[in-house]
Amino acid sequence: MAQKLGTVVVKIGTSSLTDRATGDLKLAVIGGLAEELTHLRRLGWQVVLVSSGAVGVGAKRLGLTTRPTTLEGKQAAAAVGQGLLMSLYDRFFSFLDQPVAQVLLTRADLIERDRYLNIYRTLHELFALGVIPVINENDTVAVEELKFGDNDTLSARVGTLVKANWLILFTDVAGLYSANPHVDPKAQLIAEVGQVSAELDQLAGDKGSNWGTGGMVTKLEAARIATAGGITMVITDGGIPQNLPKILAGEAIGTKFLPQQDPMNSRQLWIAYGLVPQGKLLLDKGAVKAIQAQGKSLLPAGIQAIEGNFKAQSPVDLCDLEGNEFARGLVNYSSDDLSKLLGQKSGRIPEILGYEGEAEAVHRDNLVLLAMITD
Ligand code: GLU
Repeated sequence: MAQKLGTVVVKIGTSSLTDRATGDLKLAVIGGLAEELTHLRRLGWQVVLVSSGAVGVGAKRLGLTTRPTTLEGKQAAAAVGQGLLMSLYDRFFSFLDQPVAQVLLTRADLIERDRYLNIYRTLHELFALGVIPVINENDTVAVEELKFGDNDTLSARVGTLVKANWLILFTDVAGLYSANPHVDPKAQLIAEVGQVSAELDQLAGDKGSNWGTGGMVTKLEAARIATAGGITMVITDGGIPQNLPKILAGEAIGTKFLPQQDPMNSRQLWIAYGLVPQGKLLLDKGAVKAIQAQGKSLLPAGIQAIEGNFKAQSPVDLCDLEGNEFARGLVNYSSDDLSKLLGQKSGRIPEILGYEGEAEAVHRDNLVLLAMITD
């Protein structure tokens, strides 16, 4: 058994796997990817492949000329395409005697702790058996509210799950640019990003403006998750899988996002990025400051308004009065009860609610900072 070198998650998008105009599979890319991943595994890396393409490949097989737009349409195409995609990977990797395994996940699988741990154990068993897991979202069964919807964020969550060292996003551009490289000839490649800032979000454009299939918006969200989890992430050209060993050797190829110095633990990652927020708490300046700068819990006195219907212990977004989100946490009160406590001193809770509740609306232990708000 080769020495263990670390864990690498490689995500490849539909735009790198198929020809944009014809929808034909790019067999040389898939073959190259199989060679590189097999090689890395033999060297001693634990390797995970997150592959998109189910919907695109399925649509092509069904003779559709455009990608389906309805949820049912996409789910049906994914059901056709996933098998095809997997049979393709199985054949390519089999030529190299490298076993692969299909793992289909939904967001719900990563929310519930039992299911999360179960996936963790299965992936580790696959690593121990020398298998390369090939992961996709289980598009055919994922319901809208609990969908990742894109494999960029899915791959980042998988990266934190397996405690990866690297997350490589193969896409149809060479990295993150100062402007859209498809339309602006002056666009410059950004080689390294230390902090995924709000300015970078501006570069990526609106949610609707896609450069690749998933677009840069989801790639920056993936970068936030991955780097918060201590993972180095690289966005690079999916047409050249042969770059993979060079990237892992430290060569500057594509855009590299550096891991945070002080990464979140798995519970903090779960609160920040695993759960689906059920509401918003709008906080006054004093509360924002106490949480951001002084490491305090959130007391009901600092909450000016709430949005959404939620139960006690639900995940919620913590925002300033303009609605800018800066933290996430698990709230101690339901929206019904909390609405009666807005701006109130904690000492009055028993009198207002008729029971002895927690003094904090969100306890510090259940709270994760996501961004810094400055005046
Ligand atoms: N799960 C989708 C598919 O296999 C891809 C999502 C994405 O493009 O990121 O087609």
